[in-house]
Amino acid sequence: MARDIVDELIRVLGRDKVYDDPAIVSLYSREASGLEASELPRAVVFAESASDVSALLRLAYRYEFKVFPQGSSTSLSGSAVPLGDGVILSLERMRSLREVSLLDSTAVAEPGLRIDELNLALAKHGYMFPVDPASSSVATIGGAINTGAGGMQGAKYGTMRDWVLMLQIVLPDEKGTVMRIGCRTVKCRQGYDLVRLIVGSEGTLAVVTEATLRITPLPEASPTILAFFKDLGDLVEAVKEIKKNAWQPLIMEFLDAETVKIAREFVQTSIEARGHMLLVTMDTTRESKNRVTKQLVDLMERNNAERIYTAESLEEAEKKQLLALRRSLFPAQVWYVKKQLGMDKKVHVLIEDIAVPPSKLPEAVKELRRIENHYGFKTLLGGHIGDGNLHPAIGYNPDDPKQTRKVEEWVQDVMKTAIKLGGTISAEHGIGTLKKQGLRMELEALGALKALEIMKTIKQAFDPKNILNPGKVI
Ligand SMILES: Cc1cc2nc3c(=O)[nH]c(=O)nc-3n(C[C@H](O)[C@H](O)[C@H](O)COP(=O)(O)OP(=O)(O)OC[C@H]3O[C@@H](n4cnc5c(N)ncnc54)[C@H](O)[C@@H]3O)c2cc1C
Repeated sequence: MARDIVDELIRVLGRDKVYDDPAIVSLYSREASGLEASELPRAVVFAESASDVSALLRLAYRYEFKVFPQGSSTSLSGSAVPLGDGVILSLERMRSLREVSLLDSTAVAEPGLRIDELNLALAKHGYMFPVDPASSSVATIGGAINTGAGGMQGAKYGTMRDWVLMLQIVLPDEKGTVMRIGCRTVKCRQGYDLVRLIVGSEGTLAVVTEATLRITPLPEASPTILAFFKDLGDLVEAVKEIKKNAWQPLIMEFLDAETVKIAREFVQTSIEARGHMLLVTMDTTRESKNRVTKQLVDLMERNNAERIYTAESLEEAEKKQLLALRRSLFPAQVWYVKKQLGMDKKVHVLIEDIAVPPSKLPEAVKELRRIENHYGFKTLLGGHIGDGNLHPAIGYNPDDPKQTRKVEEWVQDVMKTAIKLGGTISAEHGIGTLKKQGLRMELEALGALKALEIMKTIKQAFDPKNILNPGKVI
């Protein structure tokens, strides 16, 4: 990419929207996975409107340079790291909440709005946006749409693809076409579902410049139960019974016994945490809260839970530290590995993101512990048991080439386990660069390699010059 293209960008968009200082560019060239660009892009462009994005993509089409869209860079799959020469497109200045309609149950947001900011505004009306990745304090709406993010409330509310109604997108074509796809209504038949195609497309097809999202009332009450089981089979039986009763928890999270041990030491909680952990939050009315809590406690006891803690609401659960162990998965892993390798050592934490049908959980845990023994990486293991999404996490020293080679093999084996048990290699973090091989493995196992060809044709149709976030997903 020639220097005079940066000058042209400055001329078209204005000096205050184009930063080419390498120190700034390098800040935007890394993501939460720990990956960073091997080659620095030329500039960061801070778009303030769809027409800024359109002007940028027109120039990119004309001069054939690459554009790497970015929200808050919390991606864990390599999708937000620039790959090669080009410019980073930051959407962080497009951060307004344009509209909230309670009658339509919708919110219209710009892509750089953070999920927690949206929820703060909605809470004033008694509403929420229920997709809650653990990174929601910084994760943007645009980033969450493009990774197809999920969260703890996924057991009841699914992932981003269930909550996006309409998108304004900008295409990487000659005109930098700006258009809206989808409907403001839940019921919508508009030919092929392009909205769902953009959700999870990781910035490779179009730039999202506005989203019309579904919103839902805040739960009236959210009683929470934390239980510990000696036997993993008993925990799974408890989950089975919850489902047999046709209850749909808001949150249903799990940590295995080994992980509980380490997390407890890290969190230093007074909770008597021993055994496999099950955390359940129900979404109830005020009137039924106590009855549901009692039913759940009885159910846990029937299935041999050894210790049970309750809270009347999620707020109280936070205060009583009932969520602390589950939330500690990432920092506890850093702490544990530093303790093993030495506090002065660089530690990289890798969080996997497989999903298996919940009925296969005991087999998955057994297999992941076998893999742990084989490679010798202490594995913290937890996840969203409601939807079978597991996050085995390991820590290692990235400066040790022997360890990094072993990590690659570990990842392969973890992904193979998911596929063998009828699951998937990426539930919510996306494919990026880190899971491309896994995607191929999964499609091959399904006899669906043709799907990769179809995806390449779709990429070509949206982005004929391969401008947007090239090298990701496929
Ligand atoms: C501590 C931690 C916890 C996490 N927990 C969860 C979790 O519980 N669930 C979960 O799903 N994920 C989780 N993540 C992963 C990540 O935070 C989410 O996927 C998040 O939604 C990404 O948002 P972002 O704004 O940081 O996007 P980025 O990382 O900036 O971008 C993600 C992808 O979207 C593209 N993109 C961003 N904005 C746009 C746009 N406007 N138009 C087109 N493409 C765009 C980028 O090119 C990239 O491909 C976690 C990450 C961390 C670090």
